[in-house]
Amino acid sequence: MSRVSCNLAHMNIVTPPISLAGVPVVSGVRYAPVIRPGRAPQPDLAGLAELAAADREAEAARFDAAAAAVAARLRDRAAAATGVAAEVLAATAQLALDKAWLSRARSGIAAGVPAPRATHDSVAFFAEMFAKAGGLMAERVTDLCDIRDRVTAELLGLPEPGVPVPATPSILCADDLAPADTAGLDPSLVVGLATSLGGPTSHTAIIARQLGIPCVVAVAGLDGVAAETMVLIDGTRGVVVVEPDPARAAAEVAAAERAAAALANWAGPGGTADGHRVEVLANVQDGAAARAAADTPAEGVGLFRTELCFLNRETEPSVAEQAQIYAEVLAAFPAGKVVIRTLDAGSDKPLKFAGHADEPNPALGVRGIRIAVANPGLLDRQLAGIARAAELAGVAPWVMAPMIATPAEARDFAERARAHGLRPGVMIEIPAAALLADRILEHVDFLSVGTNDLAQYTMAADRMSAELAALTDPWQPGVLALVAVAAAAGRAAGKPVGVCGEAAADPLLACVLAGMGVTSLSAASAAVPAVGARLAAVSLAQCEEAAAAVLAAAGAAEARAAAHALLG
Ligand code: PEP
Ligand code: MG
Repeated sequence: MSRVSCNLAHMNIVTPPISLAGVPVVSGVRYAPVIRPGRAPQPDLAGLAELAAADREAEAARFDAAAAAVAARLRDRAAAATGVAAEVLAATAQLALDKAWLSRARSGIAAGVPAPRATHDSVAFFAEMFAKAGGLMAERVTDLCDIRDRVTAELLGLPEPGVPVPATPSILCADDLAPADTAGLDPSLVVGLATSLGGPTSHTAIIARQLGIPCVVAVAGLDGVAAETMVLIDGTRGVVVVEPDPARAAAEVAAAERAAAALANWAGPGGTADGHRVEVLANVQDGAAARAAADTPAEGVGLFRTELCFLNRETEPSVAEQAQIYAEVLAAFPAGKVVIRTLDAGSDKPLKFAGHADEPNPALGVRGIRIAVANPGLLDRQLAGIARAAELAGVAPWVMAPMIATPAEARDFAERARAHGLRPGVMIEIPAAALLADRILEHVDFLSVGTNDLAQYTMAADRMSAELAALTDPWQPGVLALVAVAAAAGRAAGKPVGVCGEAAADPLLACVLAGMGVTSLSAASAAVPAVGARLAAVSLAQCEEAAAAVLAAAGAAEARAAAHALLG
């Protein structure tokens, strides 16, 4: 969050009208004024006079009250949010009341240092210590600095930094947004989201999708668009138009609303216009999200990211506790399919109880199923929890492992899952697994392609990097060629192959995937109607023709254009 505020100081002012291109994340068109996250306070710390001995106790009390107020506000936002958003906010609230940094700041105040400077000194001390420790500790530095800015603002009587609550519907523009910024956004007030950084598969983009807020990321030139400027955001095409002609903007919004109304009429089940069945499913992270998904035409859950239930847990949840959590998701679809993914801990989703070693390259390290090698009990206890949840809910879930690289890993996982009476499958996120999908299918009942990681590992491009967003674009023919290999293996084996990465949330690409032989598409609930309606408007032959054209394309842009030309 402090990163956002710091960069605001370097704005280059954009002169209208101008169309800024970015990467589309959530479709929808909106026309509204810009809001920007508040600046971090920049107090003149050196100019603050040393405290007289008589004033120190009162200053310490003022400091305690400021930290408590910041923590309480974060906790209130956590209570109003759900799922991963709530976890992130609760974790930041807890950090605001962390004893170590509070007592170091208090010691400073007791020695006569004014509270704002003591706040900065204490955070600087721990930030340096965390940065040196590296790994997971280093990742908390941004959170600590965020708390420093919030407490300082409170002490100085300044507005709290971060996303302001606008009085009228607005479009939030920022360099980037920390998960704590996106968490708890009110979609009726923040009607559009544009960032100059951030990739299409970052977890911030995933939250935007869950909230259904039209969103474009990696927008070049966005830093020049000042607060209160009127902009049109088109999350379908991936553009932000600065100060467009108001009448034209209103017409574009109205046309998009008409299109959205047409989508709203799609009620499922998934399939092409000529009756070829393709299940349309939802990605969820907890019971609340599953219940929300059940209110859409989604036929079930194609990906339940279980690790997101436990991001803030210090200790492993018991089998009984896990069973309760999983049963909530199963209960939301008593007659539908639910695919539960075992913990995908590590890399950008570390779990404290998974015992991650400090690694220089966590995305290429011990994550996903690899954790089970050193800690098989963790996987077994989770499978036991899932089996127990199945009994509680009276539903038989499908269960899949993340980050499978070899047929032997798939075989081992399948044996363990079957020992718990569960139907096993695996995710295809690693190119080696896509290439050997036929051999993997000898061991498991189904595959689910995770295009987010498959793109990252195929293109050797960090999925979190905005600079590399064009490479991690799921329309890259190199990535799609591997999806096609997995789909063909599924067809030959007569076993289902779904896609649950963000590629399945792009309605046009969803048709292309169906044309490759993919049997299910799983996307954030907000994307489900658009995917289902688009698929229902085309024939299987059209999808197959588009798939062939996309696979023959030289690049992502050509692939998109070819699909547009064939699918309308
Ligand atoms: C993927 O990699 O495409 C996927 C669905 O898993 P996650 O986004 O949770 O890594
Ligand atoms: Mg993945």
